[in-house]
Amino acid sequence: MGGLIASAIFLVVLFWIVEHLLGNKRGQPWRRPRMLVDLGLYVFDSVITKPINLIVISVAAIALLIPAEVISWEALKAGQYQGFGPLAKLPGWGQFLCAFLLGDFLLYWIHRWFHGKQLWRFHAVHHSSEKLDWLSSVRGHPVNDILANAMLFFPFLLLGFGPGAAAGAGPALGVFALLGHADVEWDWGPFRHIVTSPVYHRWHHSKDPAAIDKNFASFLPLWDILFGTHYMPKDRKPEDFGIHEPVDHTVLGLLKHPFKPSSAGFGQNLSTPPPLPGASADKSTPTET
Ligand SMILES: [Zn+2]
Ligand SMILES: [Zn+2]
Repeated sequence: MGGLIASAIFLVVLFWIVEHLLGNKRGQPWRRPRMLVDLGLYVFDSVITKPINLIVISVAAIALLIPAEVISWEALKAGQYQGFGPLAKLPGWGQFLCAFLLGDFLLYWIHRWFHGKQLWRFHAVHHSSEKLDWLSSVRGHPVNDILANAMLFFPFLLLGFGPGAAAGAGPALGVFALLGHADVEWDWGPFRHIVTSPVYHRWHHSKDPAAIDKNFASFLPLWDILFGTHYMPKDRKPEDFGIHEPVDHTVLGLLKHPFKPSSAGFGQNLSTPPPLPGASADKSTPTET
């Protein structure tokens, strides 16, 4: 609990400097509407969801590694697991780098999957923030978090990464998730297509039709460029955040949101409103760079 409070204070101070001294919140009050809702979800995530994530990974490790005779139960219990296969032979920094890049690639596709028909209702909770800042990065549904965590870490487990590399890659990518929501106009200038920036991810949250289902990447925009989902116009900044469906902006309302009939939605791309009668079905927009 002490660690949770210490990390929360550190983030509050850091992002107050980023947003209120350097960003778009200059001269604005430190409080904003629905701040307590996001804080409530942060506590829920820390107290309920993260322990479940740990249990899921531990059960998967026991179920996969012991029958495969990679390690004995006694050695696993004693914390002696160090991975297996060629990846585990790499030095710590090499394993971390591989896990980070693989994790970034996997998260691109996991994120895309959450924008599809089956899972959008859970991911819509994350997209429901209408005032986007660093704290809105913690707004998410536990089903989204638990599924994404499992889909990220099972491949790490199967490929034989040591626990240090796997456990380090997730939080390292999480740093970019926090920064990506910050209320600043940073786009990294000449490096804007090399590393994701706040402007990059804030476009992902925009209701602008041209930005819908774009910019899924966590760290490398390369994945969006390769797979046709890149959007980074030079002459405009992202605005008008949120989703095209009714949302109850309370902790309980957001936890129940995926199970409401109204979140069952709008067709294949559920974050897009239904086309107006007589409008063209083709909503594609060329990517500007
Ligand atoms: Zn998304
Ligand atoms: Zn986001």
